[in-house]
Parts: sequence; structure tokens; C-alpha cells
Amino acid sequence: NADTAMFRAKEAGKNNSQFFSYDMSRSVRRRVEIRTHLRNAIRHDELSVVYQPRMVMEGNELAGAEALLRWNSAELGPVGPQEFIPVAEEAGLIVPIGEWVLREACAQAVRWRLASRRDVSVAVNISARQFRDTDIVKTVMDVLAETGLPSRLLELELTESVLMCDTARAVDTLQRLNAIGVRVALDDFGTGYSSLSYLKRFPLDCLKVDRSFVADITGEAHDEAIVRTIVALAHGLGMRVVAEGVETEEQLAMLRRLHCDEVQGYLLGRPAPPEHLLARLQDENAADHRRERQAWDAQ
Ligand code: C2E
Ligand code: MG
Ligand code: MG
Ligand code: MG
Repeated sequence: NADTAMFRAKEAGKNNSQFFSYDMSRSVRRRVEIRTHLRNAIRHDELSVVYQPRMVMEGNELAGAEALLRWNSAELGPVGPQEFIPVAEEAGLIVPIGEWVLREACAQAVRWRLASRRDVSVAVNISARQFRDTDIVKTVMDVLAETGLPSRLLELELTESVLMCDTARAVDTLQRLNAIGVRVALDDFGTGYSSLSYLKRFPLDCLKVDRSFVADITGEAHDEAIVRTIVALAHGLGMRVVAEGVETEEQLAMLRRLHCDEVQGYLLGRPAPPEHLLARLQDENAADHRRERQAWDAQ
């Protein structure tokens, strides 16, 4: 009856106010705000993509770059991806946003290629929702056709949890990506729950060692052992290894000794607008020309 309903509502209200401590309601409100404003972010031109260089260890030259999303909201100011991507994922907004990033990054890679006359690859992060709930292979094929980027210059970064959810479907999707020549990297490797037996079934091209292992690689004997093991595992399965979060020369030297194939981190370059990467490509081209010239002159 009405009385007990009223009583229940009051009880619930009391519990709620205890449950929602000040901090919690504040973080809930923040998420709601993010969701509200993120909805219009593409239309309002508030999103941008920055690119972090990825260097080949051997020869120390640019291999390409990872595309990282940035949001400068008119209402909230800059909001980091660690904060807004989970909200976008939950609200389903990551699907249109992720597709926008993919298109933007592929178009950019084509511009770098034309301007530098070099093959530059671009790595794009794909969220769980994009991988599971959409036909990512079709989206990728459409974007490659639209932008004219050769498929071998695109790499998708997935996390372990994305693959471990529905492994049969994941294997199928990865095989289709492999068939069209798009590469796939396993991001933040070592922080999820990869089963080694599944790793064998997934056609992956690359493992990205999580930066938490790189951070202590010169101090913690265990972290060195972990990275050494990841490298052996990857190479044994025919994959390349990229180390993330390289910040010091000592870390770089250690990763070189451990035969890591590529490195990425603040030491080699911060995420930056696309013009920065083009300038670096042009610098490398100029240095190549100088070397050729010197070799010629020395003859
Ligand atoms: P991630 O894919 O593992 O990207 C690497 C993150 O490490 C980036 O943070 C990068 O700025 C940061 N980082 C790079 N080098 C260093 C370093 O030397 N030291 C330290 N401390 N950090 C370094 P960011 O840009 O804040 O992105 C965070 C995460 O947000 C990404 O992690 C990725 O999971 C997600 N993300 C970013 N852009 C996208 C996107 O377009 N789509 C999706 N689905 N996720 C994205
Ligand atoms: Mg990544
Ligand atoms: Mg990562
Ligand atoms: Mg990460």
C-alpha cells in the first residue's frame, strides 16, 4: 500500500545519501557532464588527433606513429582520453568517435606519405565496443578505400580483454584483417589476462609491452626478466615487440640489449600535431641525402 511504498522510498533515499558520498556523486556528475558534451564534440569540431612517433631500434629511424585522441571541450576544457574514453565506450559514443579517428589518421598517413615520399605507418587504438559490436573489417576497408592508404601501413591496437571476450569471433575478425593486409598489435601487453594458448591462435603482428614494465626495467630485476620473456615469446611466435613509455636513455639501452624491435615514449617524442611528424620525416630525408652525398664525395 501507499504507506509502505512511502516508507520504502524514504529508506532508499536514506541509503542512497549514505551510499553516494560527496566524492562519488561528484564523479557521477562529472561522467554525466562528459557524456552530455561529448555527444556534440565531433560536430563542434572539438576533437583532434595527435601522433606519437614510433622508432625502429635498428637504425634509429621513424617507423610511424600512434594516433592518440584529444578533446578540448568548449564547456569542460581539455579532458584526457583516460577519462572520456571509458564514458564514450559506455554510452556507445566510441563507435562514431572511433570511426572518425580511424578516418582522420588514415588520411593523415596518406598526407605524410605524399609529402615525405616515404612509407609511414599509423597505429590506431580500437575499443572493445568497436571490435565487438560493429563490423570493424568493413569499416577499415571503407576507410582505406576512401583515403587511399595502403593496408600494410595501418596497424590496429587492441587490448587483451577485447580479444579474450569472444575468442572464436576475435580469431575470425583477426584472420579477416590479416587477409586484407592490416596489421594488429596487442596493446598494454602484460596487464590483462592473456592466455598463452589463445595467443598462439590469434594472428597478431606485434606485442606492445606495457609501460609499467618499462618504467622499472633498469632497477627491478623482475621487470627486466618480464620484458626479456615477452620479447622471447613474441619473436618465437613471429611477432615484433614495441616498448611503450620509454623515458630515459638507460631504458632505451636496456631495451636494445633485450632486442626490442621498436620503441615509443617521451624520450623519442611526445604526442604532437601531425606537422611535427612531417618535420621529422623531412629532417630524416635531409640527413639521408647528406649521408649519400658524403659517401659520393668520398669516392
Ligand atoms: P595507449 O594506447 O596505451 O597509449 C599510450 C599512452 O601513453 C598515451 O596516453 C601516451 O601519451 C602515453 N605515453 C606515451 N609515451 C609515454 C611516456 O614516455 N611516459 C608516459 N608516462 N606516458 C607516455 P594518452 O594519449 O593519454 O592515451 C591514453 C589511453 O587512451 C591510450 O593508451 C588508449 O588506451 C586510449 N586512447 C587514446 N586515443 C584513443 C582512441 O582514438 N581510441 C581509443 N579507443 N582509445 C584511445
Ligand atoms: Mg595504444
Ligand atoms: Mg599502451
Ligand atoms: Mg594504455
